[in-house]
Amino acid sequence: MKILVINAGSSSLKYQLIDMDEKKVLAKGLCERIGIEGSRLNHTPAGCDKVVIESPMPSHADAIKLVIDALVDKNHGVIGSMAEIGAVGHRVVHGGESFSGSVIIDEEVKKALRDCIELAPLHNPANIIGIEACEKVMPGVKQVGVFDTAFHQTMPEEAYLYGIPYKYYEKYKIRRYGFHGTSHNYVSGKAAEMLGKDIKDLKIVTCHLGNGSSVTAVKNGKVIDTTMGLTPLAGILMGTRSGDIDPAIVTFLMEKENLDIEGINKVLNKESGVFGVSGVSSDFRDLSSAAEEGNKRANAALKMFSYGIKKYIGSYAAAMGGVDAIVFTAGVGENDSQTRADIINGLEFLGIKIDSEKNKLRGKAIDVSASDATVKTLVIPTDEEMMIALETELLVK
Ligand code: ADP
Repeated sequence: MKILVINAGSSSLKYQLIDMDEKKVLAKGLCERIGIEGSRLNHTPAGCDKVVIESPMPSHADAIKLVIDALVDKNHGVIGSMAEIGAVGHRVVHGGESFSGSVIIDEEVKKALRDCIELAPLHNPANIIGIEACEKVMPGVKQVGVFDTAFHQTMPEEAYLYGIPYKYYEKYKIRRYGFHGTSHNYVSGKAAEMLGKDIKDLKIVTCHLGNGSSVTAVKNGKVIDTTMGLTPLAGILMGTRSGDIDPAIVTFLMEKENLDIEGINKVLNKESGVFGVSGVSSDFRDLSSAAEEGNKRANAALKMFSYGIKKYIGSYAAAMGGVDAIVFTAGVGENDSQTRADIINGLEFLGIKIDSEKNKLRGKAIDVSASDATVKTLVIPTDEEMMIALETELLVK
């Protein structure tokens, strides 16, 4: 079966067509500037150069039409006709408390998704538009929603409730949800495979470190805690997001800087994190270069990032009553060996220790633990699209 994986944003749409029999990506691409002048489609068939197709895309449905045209094109296409697409898997950011797993999309599911808009105003509307665009262009093809929040729904009450009046949980569903669930799910499963053990017998801390970052405690295959919260702003320091701060800072800054809700949201989401602290960049490659050249704030930002993750590894080991493996994934986690070393160094008392030579390797799943470590440290490239395709196949079969 061939599955089309869609990740729809407000003005962009990423896709991959995956052959599930071969577990192989046939083509992938990105529609940019949907609904804006100058829209284009970057389409890359496996093993071939990127093709750029410039064409107006007033709506997401137009974008999907162009994607299908590209996939069946005589020159750069990879399938004979649209009929070869067996199902569509959609990444959906927020499933609220309604979804603890992936679902086949029907009218009732779409209503539940709309109910979650308030919880993810930046993401869920675009995800719904993506779903409706596919329904329009590919009628009759089964569509599946895979949620960033679903894997985290196993958290116990003590981990997901906030210390504010309970009535706000009841009234507004204010609680910890967690994000990057598809990635945490994928890499914890891969970790069990790499260790040759049943995930039900493992305590794993997964560190998804990219532009947005989160750390999750996976005990016996189930999430028991995670760093992101009601929104993806919470937890560890990120590229441009603050992560956890004293909540009183919000009202203090609003008053002193005369900021409204939009203004303070911008400060915390776009102007904070390693970017805000360093004043240099949100990209870890730029930060490392700046720190090497003696930039003190870039150095401080990198140290804050590693220190915050180290603290969570310790606290999640305590929460799980031990830890068997630490997993690093996503842009920073997979590529930045120095940051991995900074996080792990000092955790020897927990039996966590890496081999500095192995830790230099990049681009593949690898065990970077030192030979005398009792806890494994693994680097595992994430593959959210493959995970979405696997979930989709499971449901439509
Ligand atoms: P997103 O959260 O947008 O999916 P990614 O997981 O792709 O992000 O991570 C992007 C980040 O990964 C970049 O901002 C950069 O900081 C980091 N990164 C990518 N390659 C490297 C590298 N070779 N060394 C250090 N950091 C890297």
